[in-house]
Amino acid sequence: MSQAHQPHATEILRLLSKQYTARPDMDLGNPKDTLLGVLLSARTKDSQVLKIFPAFKKRFPTFASLARSTPNEIASSISTIGLYRSKARAIHGLAKIIVDQHHGNVPSTMEELVALPGVGRKTANCVLCYVFGQSTVCVDTHVFRISHRLGWSRGKTPEAVERDLMKIVPKTEWNRINRTFVQFGRDLCTPGTPKCWKCPVAKWCPFQPKTPPPNMGTSKILVNGKR
Ligand code: SF4
Repeated sequence: MSQAHQPHATEILRLLSKQYTARPDMDLGNPKDTLLGVLLSARTKDSQVLKIFPAFKKRFPTFASLARSTPNEIASSISTIGLYRSKARAIHGLAKIIVDQHHGNVPSTMEELVALPGVGRKTANCVLCYVFGQSTVCVDTHVFRISHRLGWSRGKTPEAVERDLMKIVPKTEWNRINRTFVQFGRDLCTPGTPKCWKCPVAKWCPFQPKTPPPNMGTSKILVNGKR
């Protein structure tokens, strides 16, 4: 990945982050809820997690209550979520570890977080960024897709994309990436057909062919960001 991307990477992030300012959906305000929310949101829409989360939280208000329960009881309270049985097992297992080894508190290092069942680098990076304010690059499906379209990475795994982004984006900007790209990815740089015709960073984006407005013929597709 060329360092020549770096000036544009910074500019693109600054520009988009002015437009996309909302707090991430899974930044749920405290370490416990955020960890569980991010874990539950794997391969599941955030909106589905937010729908069940209040009742789930009421039933299991602490890690101790989760540790005392069973995977089946947890599964029954998250059964509308994708992969709910394996997520329930992970939540039960991590709650026991957090109670037994971390005095009931979510650990704040990558090493300790990825040692928890069901917690990979993406979940750990989100928790470290959202609740502990650490500079991390959290690569979810939106960050993965948009990084490829912008030519920032050709990595085949989230870990490879994370490494590329850490090279071309200054550390001061790492926390903006996930927050900004999740919203940008829902609004314009969507899965399938992105809305390139109204994209504020199209002139820096090598993705081809750029998509035209729905009422414009394919002969007017933008090339290199220009008509
Ligand atoms: S020009 Fe299109 S593909 Fe490139 S970042 Fe914008 S919306 Fe995404």
